[in-house]
Amino acid sequence: MRPTEDNYRHKGLRKKLTDGIRAKGISDEKVLNAIHAIPRHFFLDSAFDETAYEDKAFPIGEGQTISQPYTVAYQTQLLEIKNFDKVLEIGTGSAYQACVLAEMGAQVYTIERQKKLFDANKSFAVLKKYPSIKLFYGDGYEGLPTYAPFDKIIITAAAPEIPQKLIEQLKPGGMMVLPLGSGEIQRMMRITKLENNSLKEEVFDHFSFVPMVEGKK
Ligand code: SAH
Repeated sequence: MRPTEDNYRHKGLRKKLTDGIRAKGISDEKVLNAIHAIPRHFFLDSAFDETAYEDKAFPIGEGQTISQPYTVAYQTQLLEIKNFDKVLEIGTGSAYQACVLAEMGAQVYTIERQKKLFDANKSFAVLKKYPSIKLFYGDGYEGLPTYAPFDKIIITAAAPEIPQKLIEQLKPGGMMVLPLGSGEIQRMMRITKLENNSLKEEVFDHFSFVPMVEGKK
């Protein structure tokens, strides 16, 4: 069961978490405000009520995890989100990252390949607060050609290589942030599609994500 009560203790823990993420180097106030605003314990089983505000990844079922808040903040900061940005997310999981993006004013299109995780979000009360999030069941490698192009794309699973179909679905001037690599540890990358359609690649810190897997389940 996912909890629905947000009390003073939760709020206090969330403030500490936000301060901790700021101390680790995240400076985008819009990102920090979103982390501060969203009750992360709503996205986890009630067994995690005590620990949801630790800066750690936690299991969400089906062998998947909700990313560590610092990692969510790090990827989101690299995306330089602006109001009404049209953002494609690969790997809905718990939908926490999608809510962070929506809280910042983005229009979010998020894809999940695992039916059970997708179905769990269909009736998830918190998402009623964010009508700008649209959930899709499918293979993120295909993206969403019908809704393309996107201002920003975020991949929240480790991609062994840069998915070319997603590059095609990026607007000129758009950016994609992804953990790149096929091993345990990946490198955060930001790919910017320049106005002449050439790509600029920037390399950032090391992270550890669950793998991006082809096909639906
Ligand atoms: N953004 C999530 C993180 C979930 S972990 C959150 O905030 O909780 C990564 C997720 O990516 C998992 O749910 C996994 O099932 C999903 N995933 C992996 N490969 C995928 C693919 N090809 N298409 C869509 N989702 C994928």
